[in-house]
Amino acid sequence: MPDDKAARMKHIEERLNQLEGSPLYDYRRENGYHAVIGDGSLDAKVMFVGEAPGENEAKQGRPFVGAAGRILGELLEGIGLKREDVYITNVVKDRPPGNRDPRPEEIALYTPLLVEQIELIRPVVIGALGRFSMDFLLDLFDAPERGGKISDLHGKALTGTASYGPVTIVPLYHPAAAFYRRELREEMTRDFETIHRAIG
Ligand code: URA
Repeated sequence: MPDDKAARMKHIEERLNQLEGSPLYDYRRENGYHAVIGDGSLDAKVMFVGEAPGENEAKQGRPFVGAAGRILGELLEGIGLKREDVYITNVVKDRPPGNRDPRPEEIALYTPLLVEQIELIRPVVIGALGRFSMDFLLDLFDAPERGGKISDLHGKALTGTASYGPVTIVPLYHPAAAFYRRELREEMTRDFETIHRAIG
């Protein structure tokens, strides 16, 4: 029922576009930015969830199209996947001013949309890109490791409970971290192997 899924995702996107109650809505409009719903396959087994769009993403309306996106693409390629094989989105779907951290009230406002996206795609594995995404997903799926540190949990296959059954959550360092900590790049490559194994 691919058409039905596409229609449901479109409906989520329309609600995002009209999210006038968001503290980030005026910033979007003033700068001519787009909200970023996500992209990729609606039948993907693997979903990646980042933090929030950056400037390039907000200009193009697509997730991970800037420098961090290039690294994500390379890491995917390393495990034999293309962007079109997976679904990529963010916890917060509008660019926070100056790329500041998303605020708790912003996370609370956008996450019902993310939850609907996850329930629509029903991924087997979710790669949590960065600390915000990891905290949100471990909490949402009630994983025993919730509240843990990304430095301890990165690259581990953790089990959470989704509405549709068990889901594997793999915390990953955010690809942008590879810019300022080059030594992380090898660890990230290894961590992506966990995703590869979890897909089976
Ligand atoms: N960083 C993110 O967390 N998400 C994007 O879409 C781009 C950069």
